[in-house]
This record gives sequence, structure tokens and C-alpha cells, in this order.
Amino acid sequence: MLSAKAALARCLQATLPVLAERVSLDLAFDRVLAEPIVSPLNVPPWDNSAMDGYAVRACDVQQSGVTLRVLETIAAGAVPKNEVVEGTCARIMTGAPIPRGADTVIMVERTSTSEDMRSVTLHERPSPGQNVRPLGGDVRKGQRVLEPGTVLTPAAVALISSLGIPSVLVAQKPRVAILSTGDEVVPPGFPKTAGQIYGSNTLALIGLVRQAGAEPVHCGIAPDDPQGLRDALQRCLRCDLILTTGGVSVGDFDHVKDVMGGVDFWKVAIKPGKPLAFGDLEGVPFFGLPGNPVSCMVNFLQFVRPVIRQSLGDPKPYLPVVPATLTHPLRKKPGRAHLSRVMLRRDGQRWLATPTATQSSGVLMTMVLADGLTLLPPDAGDQPEGAELLVQLIRPDWGRAEDPQYPWDHDPLHDHGC
Ligand code: AMP
Ligand code: MG
Repeated sequence: MLSAKAALARCLQATLPVLAERVSLDLAFDRVLAEPIVSPLNVPPWDNSAMDGYAVRACDVQQSGVTLRVLETIAAGAVPKNEVVEGTCARIMTGAPIPRGADTVIMVERTSTSEDMRSVTLHERPSPGQNVRPLGGDVRKGQRVLEPGTVLTPAAVALISSLGIPSVLVAQKPRVAILSTGDEVVPPGFPKTAGQIYGSNTLALIGLVRQAGAEPVHCGIAPDDPQGLRDALQRCLRCDLILTTGGVSVGDFDHVKDVMGGVDFWKVAIKPGKPLAFGDLEGVPFFGLPGNPVSCMVNFLQFVRPVIRQSLGDPKPYLPVVPATLTHPLRKKPGRAHLSRVMLRRDGQRWLATPTATQSSGVLMTMVLADGLTLLPPDAGDQPEGAELLVQLIRPDWGRAEDPQYPWDHDPLHDHGC
């Protein structure tokens, strides 16, 4: 059997033809930046006040209790009319430009204004420059603020907006064909006959593909006969990547690997999972994922998601991994790596991992509940309560990693990728 790490390395040789496209900022969230962002201006564009208060010359306020004449009130968005000279100051609002002559702002709470508003007494001796946000203090004109490959969080999009840039070049979303297989699989909303089941994998993959930053293309359900499967696969060829689910094992009706070109068929030493076909169809990279709903999702996360993220230019294409402590024992036979479903919670500095009630690869509810997957190497045995292990975080909002950090780098069972 092939180790997960070796299988992943082979999958990552698949490259999707990802182009760049320009999108307006409101459509840029979660996209991967395909150009550097260089600031065309200084932020802030001028020295401005960080407080509502009075702009003064610090040298005029050498002790508390000084009274100064107020020249004007400067609102945010206004331009100061007067220069602050000895014995004077300007009332100023947060964000308004500091008037010429002034170098310091005293917050309004530390002042008392005369009734006619013409003078103010300052109850503070300020340090020079206090409460002044300097020109270019956040970003300097010409500064490279974001690199290609940056995933555009709300903060990153907001930063680009603050530079006055209305649109950005991002990696185009690759189109990913999703084809379920199986005579027994019926989509929800349709009647089913005895022996048939309502499918789940098409929807699981649509969601996972979207979360991975690609565009899912629903290609329906193919029957379990080679010609029917070939016909259905024709619908997938206009995409950049093809995913099928089911029909990839050694059963009498498992035809997926027969209709692929340049196919590698692997038994990957992971549980849930094992059968995984990888190749291409007329040059389009092709993954044949297992049919069991949990295996399908777990294999997608291990092998397909990194291929998509890498193609988008994400320098951290893998799910992050954290150390965790088991709250309950976990059974494991040596042989395959176990990606057991666990629920996570924090306990001070530690993560506590509680295995879901069953680890059956058919029970989707466990994937609904799970926050992570254990990374137990093939040679590991039963894990007692309190065991320390590594857990891959599968909720996308928990971040990404640069390195998959599989602990089974040297898989003793690796037998030349049968
Ligand atoms: P297979 O790999 O085709 O033998 O399928 C393995 C198991 O997964 C069988 O119990 C199938 O009924 C089930 N299965 C296959 N495709 C789907 C699907 N799209 N949705 C839900 N279950 C499926
Ligand atoms: Mg099948």
C-alpha cells in the first residue's frame, strides 16, 4: 500500500491551468491574490489627529493649566485655515489634518473650554507628538503591502480599499466536475425504488470544492456500466479537474479505473479510505474518490484540496495540524494510518480531542460533528485516554498550513504503490 504522504506527493504533480482574473473588491474575499499590491499613496495622507481635542504646539504647554486662544474648529474632511502660533491652538476632530504649526493633540476630556469657545484651558502637560498619526505612518507610498498568494481576508480587502484600489487580480477559480456513480444512487427530490439510496457525495463535494476556492460543476450521476460511465464523463471534459465518487474499488461493477487514461490506482494506507484512482481523462486531471461518504470527504481533504490550493497559488495549501490529548481511548490496529474523526475543545493551553461515537466510514453524522481528523501513523496501535496525538483541523476557518505534517514520513508498509 502507498503511504498518504507518497500519494499526496504524486497528486501534487497534477497542475490545473489556473489563470488570473480581475475582480472588484466586494468579490475578492477568500480569493488568492495573483499580483503584488503596491501602495500608490501614503496612509494616512497627512498628519492627523487620533483624538477629538485641541491641536497645540507642545512648547506652549509646559505645565498643566495653560490657557490658549482657539483659532478655529477643524472637522474630519476639512482643511485647516490657520497656522497655530504661540499662544493659540485649534479645536480638532479625530481624523482631521493637523494644522500648520501644531505638533501635538490634547484629548478633549483633559480640557475645559470657555463659554464663548474662544479659549481653552489644558489640564495636562503633553508629550510632544502625542495623539498625532503621522503621514505615511500606516503605509508609505510605493510600499509593497501584499504579496501574490495572499488569501484575501476581510482585513486584507479593507487594506486594499484604504489605498484607493477598486479591483484586484486574483487566481481564477478552476472548474471542478463532480460525477457520482452508482445504479443505487438517487438525488434528493426524486422517487427511489427498493435497493436505492439518496446520494450525499455530490453535495459533500460541491461544498468542499467551494470551500477549497474552486467552482463546482454538477455533472449528475453515472450508471454502473462502462459505456454509461464514459458518456457521463464526456460532460466533465470541459472542466479543469474531474472528481468521481464510487465505483473505484474491486467490486464487479467498479468501472471508474477502466475508463480513465494514464491511471494510477492506489490502495492508500489510510482509514477511512484506501481505494483512490488518480490519472487523467484526455489530459484533464482526474480523481476517482471512494463511494463511502466519509471516505469520499476525507480523501478529498487529503489529496484533492491541496492540489486545488496549490494551483491557486496558496503557499499554505494544507489543513493545519495541532497537538491534542485524547479524552477517550481510540481503538487502532497497526497497518494503516487512521484519520479518526474527533471533536475538539480547548482546555487552557491544550486541545482535548473526543472521538465521535463511531468511526464507521458510512456514518455522515460523524463528519457533521467532527472538528478534526487524527493523524495516527500506520504502525500505531490502540490509543489510551490521555494519549497525545496530532489532529488535522478540518474546519476551513481554522486556517491553513505550509506543510501537511504527516507523521508517517517513513511508512514501513509502503510497497511501491500497487
Ligand atoms: P462503491 O465504492 O461504489 O462500491 O460505493 C461504496 C459505498 O458508498 C456503497 O455503499 C455506495 O452505495 C455508497 N455510495 C456510493 N456513491 C454514493 C453517493 N454519491 N452518495 C452516498 N453514498 C454513496
Ligand atoms: Mg458503486
